[in-house]
Amino acid sequence: MVSREGPGTVPSQRPLTMPTYPSNCLQFAKTIEGTLPTLPKPTSGSLGLNILVVGAGLGGLVTAIALTQAGHKATIYEQTAVLGEVGAGIQIPSNSARILFKLGLESYLKPYVTTPESISFRRWQNGKVIGKTRLIPDFVNNFHAPYYVVHRADFHSALYQKAQDMGIQIRLGARVVDYDSALGSITLEDGTRYTGDLIVAVDGIKSVARNVILDGEKMLFRNPGFAAYRAVVDVNRMRNDPDVSWILERPGLNIWIGDSRHVMTYTIGAGKAFNMVLSHPDTSDPATWDVQTALQAMKIEFLGWDPVLTKIIGMVEKTIKWPLVSGSLLNRWTRGKLVILGDAAHAMLPYMSQGAAMAVEDGVALARSLSYMQSQEQLTEALAIFEKVRILRAGQMQEASLLNGQLWHFADGPMQEARDAAMEPEVEGLSFSHSPNQWSDPATQMWCYGYEAEREIDQAWAEWRGLRKE
Ligand SMILES: Cc1cc2nc3c(=O)[nH]c(=O)nc-3n(C[C@H](O)[C@H](O)[C@H](O)COP(=O)(O)OP(=O)(O)OC[C@H]3O[C@@H](n4cnc5c(N)ncnc54)[C@H](O)[C@@H]3O)c2cc1C
Repeated sequence: MVSREGPGTVPSQRPLTMPTYPSNCLQFAKTIEGTLPTLPKPTSGSLGLNILVVGAGLGGLVTAIALTQAGHKATIYEQTAVLGEVGAGIQIPSNSARILFKLGLESYLKPYVTTPESISFRRWQNGKVIGKTRLIPDFVNNFHAPYYVVHRADFHSALYQKAQDMGIQIRLGARVVDYDSALGSITLEDGTRYTGDLIVAVDGIKSVARNVILDGEKMLFRNPGFAAYRAVVDVNRMRNDPDVSWILERPGLNIWIGDSRHVMTYTIGAGKAFNMVLSHPDTSDPATWDVQTALQAMKIEFLGWDPVLTKIIGMVEKTIKWPLVSGSLLNRWTRGKLVILGDAAHAMLPYMSQGAAMAVEDGVALARSLSYMQSQEQLTEALAIFEKVRILRAGQMQEASLLNGQLWHFADGPMQEARDAAMEPEVEGLSFSHSPNQWSDPATQMWCYGYEAEREIDQAWAEWRGLRKE
């Protein structure tokens, strides 16, 4: 390759080139303007597409906000008459928070979020800390956004409020029963039909739109054989008990891990409630689950675990059991003028706490890819580039989530001992180059939380243009 600077340029004065291999060695140079080449950005103005968004879950709302900010007209069609979110807590990891801030959501989220200081992995039997990730200040310093936990209902209403403030129309009680992907139209249950330049279906794990994309072929779910009890404990009850009150003193995530089971906990509602997700082996048919016996069954699952944990479990007054499944890797997310994203495209085990975060990344990635269109004829390219970039990322996150389902669940024995030994340096505050704790492992951390969805789209468009020139 011929150097652009000509033969006389001193090598140390030449502009740096981002390596094509995974490396952080040029992070320092990002702080000095002009030292790294920048990717071309979308230059044409927005085409102002008329976009029909199906689903007003977390993914649908974020996508509509991102599309509207990019200059399109987004209208949301949601089947339920009353909006809401089922379940209690949700983590907003830094890769998601960074995007939400850019979309202008910081002030909408601030009143509701808790910012945990760290994530502690604890031994199932006695609660001993066996792995530790420092979130404050490390995640803000390295990934330029905090790591939040929040009540789902609060996260949802923050997005809803922002969408309202932006004038986005949300039609409730509007169940989509049919799609015409060639025309870009949807038909509602009452027979009314709407046509747009693009339909974005964010209609969740049971997606109808996915069937259209796959042309009637069913996506196979990977059932790793787990279910989760979800519960919330009254913090006042915990504060009055000296055996467990210490866990509320500093905001943190605590995960007890053991044979085939784990319990993830953190406070939500800005410290007002204690959220628990209790994962355990279960291959039974959800249709046979009985809400009356769930509480008792949950307590039996964790008999013999750390007395602090079982005491907190004893304070749970009601719980719901939730099936945990992972979607399989799809080879397409688009057909004609229809695209799916969020859980519809990439349902995953919640073991990386990244399902909704992937929908947030999808939303801005789609908006960015559409910004490169110079005419309506380029919709196919814009969707193909979006699909290529996002299938790779979300597929890897599905894989990382499944891997945690193995790493956390070793029975006591050589693998568990080797895993715990590998996490010792992070607990002792020593330096380390690898960790089975995927929040700490340096390579996984940079891939997971340092990912920049818009940059990946810019890169893919640049490559596509390069390929087209040849
Ligand atoms: C136990 C558990 C813990 C989790 N923890 C985390 C976490 O900590 N962090 C994280 O990022 N993710 C987490 N997730 C994943 C996260 O909850 C999901 O990935 C996310 O909520 C998916 O959002 P969505 O908008 O794609 O789908 P949904 O939330 O399912 O929304 C789909 C919407 O579409 C509507 N809809 C469906 N069909 C139609 C139709 N035909 N017409 C009109 N509307 C329709 C539905 O009513 C719904 O409102 C967790 C999941 C579980 C189960």
